[in-house]
Amino acid sequence: DVRVRFAPSPTGFLHLGGLRTALYNYIYAKKYGGSFILRMEDTDQNRLVPGTAKAIEDMLEWAGIPPDESPRHGGENGPYVQSQRLAHYTEAADTLVQTGMAYKCFCSQQRLELLKREALRSGQTPRYDNRCRHLRPEQVQEKLGQGVPHVIRFKLESGVEPFHDLVFGWNRHEVAQVEGDPVVMKADGFPTYHLANVVDDHLMKISHVLRGSEWLISTAKHLLLYRALGWKPPVFGHLPLLLNRDGSKLSKRQGDIYIQSFQTAGTLPEALLDIITHCGSGFNSNHIGRTIQELVSEFNPSSITTHSALLDLDKLPEFNRVHLQQHINDTEKCDWLVRELEVQIQKVYGTLDKDVLNTEYIKRILHLRKGHISYLSELVAPEYSYLWVRPSFCDQQMAAFDAVPEAEHIASLVIKLMESPVGGGELSVDLLTVELKSLAKKTGNTKYRDVMKTLRLAISGLQQGPSVAEMMVSLGPTEITLRFNRVLK
Ligand code: GLU
Repeated sequence: DVRVRFAPSPTGFLHLGGLRTALYNYIYAKKYGGSFILRMEDTDQNRLVPGTAKAIEDMLEWAGIPPDESPRHGGENGPYVQSQRLAHYTEAADTLVQTGMAYKCFCSQQRLELLKREALRSGQTPRYDNRCRHLRPEQVQEKLGQGVPHVIRFKLESGVEPFHDLVFGWNRHEVAQVEGDPVVMKADGFPTYHLANVVDDHLMKISHVLRGSEWLISTAKHLLLYRALGWKPPVFGHLPLLLNRDGSKLSKRQGDIYIQSFQTAGTLPEALLDIITHCGSGFNSNHIGRTIQELVSEFNPSSITTHSALLDLDKLPEFNRVHLQQHINDTEKCDWLVRELEVQIQKVYGTLDKDVLNTEYIKRILHLRKGHISYLSELVAPEYSYLWVRPSFCDQQMAAFDAVPEAEHIASLVIKLMESPVGGGELSVDLLTVELKSLAKKTGNTKYRDVMKTLRLAISGLQQGPSVAEMMVSLGPTEITLRFNRVLK
């Protein structure tokens, strides 16, 4: 059974890099009919940021990649929060100590500091000197008797076997030569990342570990732990980094890489998933507009390369535009967009006259503007205010009609035209454009442009904006007649 997991630490909000790791896991699970598990790795109690654990799960659900098993939804292998699983880690650490694979270390913070400083002074990488490995049983008993605090360290053995990574191929790190024995249990009774991660991946029956490539170097240590505990390790696949287009790190400090800020900005989740997979490898096609189902069907793990994925967020509006258009064309999603837009209209314009601005009307606007707008919020911007509120009538409009006498005549012709379109069918933007042009020609003299300007002003109170034909089709005959009549003498 394929079982994959996303194992964030609730030490910050979900950002693009994290979302991408989660997404690859989700896709892998769906592709192979497996399960996607969310596990909170909260063993570093000092770095916890309140609210982030809940927010991370919220964001995965918002993004449309909900976990099958998680802190919120539970599952057969829970709990899914490490701080609620301490007994498992204690048991594993005890086993390691009993089998001689780990030992109690009583070294004080002071001594460790000193070791570190000495190493740095002589230009070496600090590492623990494994002193407590050699304590005799009676020395251990004595220190325990005196109540000296201790941690548990894992004996790093040399002779690491190479392992095959799904992305990076064959790997081998002789960790014992570069590192001191790592702490697996801290003095506060909490495990460190390495132990908790291995214990949980084993107990949660994880088949494939797909995680960021920054963990590749830790894998040798993890494999030694699996071996010491007598467990079969999962398959590992390390995902290349997600970087800015210029190759710089996606800084976690930049507010704008947090998923919540994309949500607030009106980014569609599908557009976000599309762009973060578009820039890397692993998919058979790269057209803009891929849905999550398409990402799953086009996923090809063997095509993931080790190259970093370079993300160009300047392209996000384009992705959003395409996805917004697809949403509008989908009946169910369009209904959802209507509700979203209603909320925004109310926020910006205070009221929503449901008699005029009904669902059909809003849908018509969406269909007319699709492909032109990247974000729904553009529709409530000032240049579209005429769609939601009648422009206040002003002298400028009267003056414009006085300056272009033909406009008045055309306006009354247009009213007639809108009431009974030629051919009796529905009035489309294309049709109306043609009709307007021929009307302008018929009345001769005045330039078509001037007439249009005057009409636009009467309809919207604006000098610029979408074509007059589109404005008319958007607002419909009744509203157009009403607005024209206010300026016609
Ligand atoms: N808790 C680790 C992190 O925050 C998980 C690494 C892993 O997936 O093993 O990235």
